[in-house]
Amino acid sequence: MKHIKCIAVEEGFSTPEVLAAHQDVLRNHPEREPGLYKLMANFDDTLWSGWAEKLTDLGAGRIAEMDKGGIDKQVLCLSAPGLQIFDPVQAMELSRNVNERLAMAMREHPDRFAGLAAVPPQCPREGAIELERAVRTLGLKGLLINSHTRNEYLDDPKFRPLFEALSSLNVPLYLHPREPSAQLLDAYIQYGLEGAIWGYAAEVALHSLRLILSGLFDDFPNLRVVIGHGGEGIPFFLGRIDNRYANSGHSAPGRRRLKMKPSDYFLRNFAISTSGMIDHAPLRLCIDMLGIDNVMFAVDYPFERIGPAVASMDSAPLSDEERTKFLYENAERIFNL
Ligand code: MN
Repeated sequence: MKHIKCIAVEEGFSTPEVLAAHQDVLRNHPEREPGLYKLMANFDDTLWSGWAEKLTDLGAGRIAEMDKGGIDKQVLCLSAPGLQIFDPVQAMELSRNVNERLAMAMREHPDRFAGLAAVPPQCPREGAIELERAVRTLGLKGLLINSHTRNEYLDDPKFRPLFEALSSLNVPLYLHPREPSAQLLDAYIQYGLEGAIWGYAAEVALHSLRLILSGLFDDFPNLRVVIGHGGEGIPFFLGRIDNRYANSGHSAPGRRRLKMKPSDYFLRNFAISTSGMIDHAPLRLCIDMLGIDNVMFAVDYPFERIGPAVASMDSAPLSDEERTKFLYENAERIFNL
């Protein structure tokens, strides 16, 4: 199959300042982030330092890997847990620095990089102002949040200013994983399941369903949420979610009467990417369940390798029209690239 233009929409990066601040929290306040502490303790040091080097490279080394693998453009996402573990003052300062660093990369390599703003949800009002600056002034393409923020989820009304800003700017929220929140963590730890092996997907699937069942999308019908890793399993479960929504949970304290079925919101308000998922069968299932307009290619660089991801997607059993939409047209439309 001839390789065509390819945009990868969930590609990790970080800054030396953010990585140093993560290390500082893990060293001095491990009790604040028990899940992150366990996750990092389970990584091989060499593997992690290799990732750290690639995460902080927004220049020649990264572009050489993109060229070699066949990626035309990366949409850059601040890697988990981003700014969500910091105190507000430090988080806002790092947020402005990260967004400016992204804008610089986009100015230096306009054909190769686009960035999603990193804003700390623990500062919803200041964060919304920074999101507006990042989109309107710096040209960033959306907002990246790494799931829970100190064990709180975005359906909490305190986070509304961020959704008001997303909605009025008409840019998407990319809801990326991190390890499960403290209230869920114990059951994951014994076998090291808290990371991308399972905990990441379970965490973001839960977070997405919380957003849907909270009625958020009745209040913000034009809001777009993007999730990675083949939709974190949700496309596979859509029928069962509707079925059991209709006949369970009636006395759940957060339940509110929705205007549509849960799957209707998923199909209307969500888009997904294939980050870290290279098998053809789940790709086909995702496209069949969601339609071809809301499924995008992603690698999950540097945690996954570009070569096998591109090769697998180039050989996927897709029509020419599907392939074009999947590999770049949907990304251009959804992120306004
Ligand atoms: Mn990822």
